[in-house]
Amino acid sequence: MVFSLLISSAFAQERAGLDDIIKVLANPAKALNDPRCEEKNNTNVNACRSLSSAVCGIKNPQSSLRALQKKTSSYESIPFGKLTLPSLETIERVEGDVFETSIVKQSDLVELFSEVRSSMLAAIDRNSALTLIEKSAMKEKIQSVQFMSGSEYVRHRESHPNQGETQEQARLKGIRNYADKCGNGSLVSAYNQMDKVVLCPGLIQSLMDFNPRSKREILNSLAFTVGHELAHSIDASPDRFPEPYFHMQTCYNNLSEGSGQFESRGPEISADYWGSQIFAERLRADNITGEEAVRALALAADDFCSFPDDSLYPSGKARLDLTIGRDPSIRQSLGCEPPSREAPVCTMAGAIPYHPPSVARSK
Ligand SMILES: [Zn+2]
Repeated sequence: MVFSLLISSAFAQERAGLDDIIKVLANPAKALNDPRCEEKNNTNVNACRSLSSAVCGIKNPQSSLRALQKKTSSYESIPFGKLTLPSLETIERVEGDVFETSIVKQSDLVELFSEVRSSMLAAIDRNSALTLIEKSAMKEKIQSVQFMSGSEYVRHRESHPNQGETQEQARLKGIRNYADKCGNGSLVSAYNQMDKVVLCPGLIQSLMDFNPRSKREILNSLAFTVGHELAHSIDASPDRFPEPYFHMQTCYNNLSEGSGQFESRGPEISADYWGSQIFAERLRADNITGEEAVRALALAADDFCSFPDDSLYPSGKARLDLTIGRDPSIRQSLGCEPPSREAPVCTMAGAIPYHPPSVARSK
């Protein structure tokens, strides 16, 4: 009896499905309004499975960024060996060009950095995988990091020459470090060099091209980048904190989608791990959920989608799908299920949920 009911109800479902297909064939336009098609188009459903496909679907037109790059390409440059570097005046001029028109000013970034630092200190404190000694060493390092504009960075380098360096040499080396990441300032990037964090003005200009609704929206998205850069001072590099990331390394190397090579990409992956937590906290504080959270992530990951992997960086897709998109708090904001055994999050405590290694049984 139960068996036949099952058969008949299964048949009824199939029949209803067939009826729907016939209706759609008779009126294809109707399919556009079909709630099941809507669900397939729902970026949130996609975001839970593959954050990169949802995020990379939101394109940045980058029109004002390109205009900035065109305008500033004729600004003064100086020869340095085989390289052509921007002069300090050019670096300042590009900063002026961006911050005169953007809704975010350098003083907002200074405030953001201090908020991100507090958030990072709290995240270290609540990380149960760290020993008290590791926590205090990491917090001390985070406290020592300075945030600067590009021109402040070059001036600081000039006034603190290394032994045997003239001030002129120190300034040129400062400019070279800056240009390596920011070009003349108009590239979409940021860096942490010897515990000094700098955001390239091009990054701010690029975010303006998303037509931000508020200053807060830009600052929230920058919290990921600032968190990532700040975390480079406590990342998995051999000369920073390699030991606490041992379980994370094993976890990444075991992922079937294989971002692999944590040995060389560990610094970037571990910086993303902290950046995700800082960013998730801001989403939670501002109650940003669902599609709004997907948009916030698109701004936070501006320019990721065009990056393939290299020896230092996982691809933008891997950064979004294997690290950021698996952070439990980010998943919560997106309205997604927590990480699963099939798609665990790699933490400093290892994979969560824990996946016991398969052990060969003795006979
Ligand atoms: Zn990095």
